[in-house]
Amino acid sequence: MDKIEHIGIAVKDLETSNKLFASLFGKTHYKTEEVASEGVKTSFFKNGPNKIELLQATHPESPIAKFIDKKGEGIHHIAFAVSDIKAEISRLKSEGFVVLNEVPKKGADNKLVAFLHPKTTNGVLIELCQEIEKTKIK
Ligand code: ZN
Repeated sequence: MDKIEHIGIAVKDLETSNKLFASLFGKTHYKTEEVASEGVKTSFFKNGPNKIELLQATHPESPIAKFIDKKGEGIHHIAFAVSDIKAEISRLKSEGFVVLNEVPKKGADNKLVAFLHPKTTNGVLIELCQEIEKTKIK
């Protein structure tokens, strides 16, 4: 596992939070993206090497909606960059971690992603993400 790729924050209303974080950071988000398969709308901020992802649910069954129901707004996940997500998934499985999706899926920001169940990581939802090579994009 490599550096922290980004930190994900669950918010109720993306537009309101975009304004809040824009005044916090002194700059606006650089992109928004909807990931329909996850039921989320996201926006990204960059401060130097650090990236923050804001996530808003697009429907009540979205994992983000459920998270906010249970815990309220706040830090939702920490994402780590990996260079070979499949190898990392099998390594972590053999270490006893529960991987929520064993087949990496397409996440926001041109990444292949997989999540580890928080019950095996001290309550922290961990996302693995691997940059999708530009040549593979259609
Ligand atoms: Zn993320």
